[in-house]
Amino acid sequence: MSTEFDLIDRFFSRSSPAAKLGVGDDAALVEPSAGHDLAMTMDTLVSGVHFSPNCEPRALGHKALAVNLSDLAAMGARPRWVMLAITLPAIDEAWLEDFAGGFYDLAQRYDVALIGGDTTHGPLSLTVAATGEVAADKALRRDGARAGDEVWVSGHIGSAALALRHRRGELRLKGGDLDICSTRLDRPAPRIELGEALVGVASSAIDVSDGLVADAGHIAQRSGVRIEIRYDAVPVIAGLMHLKADHGVRSAVLAGGDDYELLFTVPAHAAGQLDRVSATLGLALTRIGVVVPGSGVAVLDSSGSVIDVGSGGYDHFE
Ligand code: ADP
Ligand code: MG
Repeated sequence: MSTEFDLIDRFFSRSSPAAKLGVGDDAALVEPSAGHDLAMTMDTLVSGVHFSPNCEPRALGHKALAVNLSDLAAMGARPRWVMLAITLPAIDEAWLEDFAGGFYDLAQRYDVALIGGDTTHGPLSLTVAATGEVAADKALRRDGARAGDEVWVSGHIGSAALALRHRRGELRLKGGDLDICSTRLDRPAPRIELGEALVGVASSAIDVSDGLVADAGHIAQRSGVRIEIRYDAVPVIAGLMHLKADHGVRSAVLAGGDDYELLFTVPAHAAGQLDRVSATLGLALTRIGVVVPGSGVAVLDSSGSVIDVGSGGYDHFE
């Protein structure tokens, strides 16, 4: 019978040279880089709420870390150290092996060290806390958007929500489209390099986790501005372009969430730099709207009329 300590030793104790002291003591020790602010974030994934109980453990390990790295990306921070609190209904070693594999694969890709955590018994739930570094006073905050700025997004929007709706039988995606969308849902790619490249360029940023309109609303509210989005300009994967007007697709694009793309604003004079950033990273960046005086978010159709999007996002307590 494995104990909690055996589990930690076996699955969560890979060496972490980025820390002075990693897993195994009462607390980890890290040394922040001079001239940097620490960006700190935490996200919990609960079985049955954020993922289905039979979700593939390797994908879950990836996603638990990815959603946190995405928050650091949205601050323009470079991820350095993470902690993992895991609550398990039972000890399933094959499951843990795969979960840890997915988690460490992503951690290694970004040179992030797992330096501690907690292991408890109960309904399956995963909490990751991540710390990154960003040059002092240069973080990409939600409150920096100004009237006259342009609104941009990375990648494609709505893919994760479309995969989810496909799985629920609410719509049908074709093979190739389904593959792209499923990857976005199960193994989102945190836009870390983009976040870092936007430091000193973007005036505000957020990652699209709750839904495009809801997340634009967070920037609008924190910045005291209004954001106008042209629905026609919002990028969706090529195979779905012709279905953009379909109601189900439109609600996935505007309100779906779980994309983990970055939504950001740039002063008009800085927008020219984005082509180079896009080319360097091999990542599409698309201008989808403008920041104007006022409050809230409006989505406009091709004739400039406002599209009704309802509440436009995911709220756990609604
Ligand atoms: P304590 O009782 O002092 O809080 P624990 O027994 O909870 O310590 O944990 C022992 C060590 O293992 C600590 O360094 C802790 O950070 C680490 N740890 C516990 N669970 C995990 C986990 N799931 N992933 C990574 N490190 C963990
Ligand atoms: Mg202790």
